[in-house]
Amino acid sequence: MKEGKLILFCGPSGSGKTTVTRHLLENFPQLSFSVSATTRKKRDGETDGRDYHFLTVDDFKKKIEQDQFVEWEEVYKDLYYGTLKSEIERIWKENKVVAFDVDVEGGMNIKKIYGDNLLAVFIKPLSVEVLRKRLTDRNTESPESLATRIAKAELELTYENKFDHVIINDTLEHALEKAKVLVGEFLSAPDEK
Ligand code: 5GP
Repeated sequence: MKEGKLILFCGPSGSGKTTVTRHLLENFPQLSFSVSATTRKKRDGETDGRDYHFLTVDDFKKKIEQDQFVEWEEVYKDLYYGTLKSEIERIWKENKVVAFDVDVEGGMNIKKIYGDNLLAVFIKPLSVEVLRKRLTDRNTESPESLATRIAKAELELTYENKFDHVIINDTLEHALEKAKVLVGEFLSAPDEK
């Protein structure tokens, strides 16, 4: 199959990367979201097959055995997340550009595999304190999972120099504007950046 372009958005949980990704999907109809598989519980407002393919741990492990993932990670203890090969194939078949929202480890693996046609963007909060406040206000995490996410965020922030571009999410409006410019330029450039 002819390989197309891909755009990777990484950054700590609560950095705003999902909001930025969703906004770009609305603005650029040639982008299509790679719906990951996960074993975490569905949050209010999430839809199976749109936000994630929500799987049991057994089903997720079966897919690992069947080599159905491009990459997968145990992002948090006992919580698995992975990019399905079938998602990338589906999107390229439609002649669209794949948009990923994955953790930094998954992002690094995707970069190794598809580096030539990939735009890798790191979305960064102003500070860990801002991140903590955003995650607390979002009210989706227990105190334990909040602590785990903050610890992981501190590690993820050390990866920023491995990306093509870093967007500081000081205000969402500013981050979205910057992301739109980067994506617009990338989409209009010929293949193989
Ligand atoms: P959340 O539970 O907040 O939706 O996601 C937790 C973390 O898992 C985020 O950093 C998100 O980007 C990451 N993630 C989502 N899908 C995938 C995936 O397919 N692979 C990897 N490696 N990480 C993912």
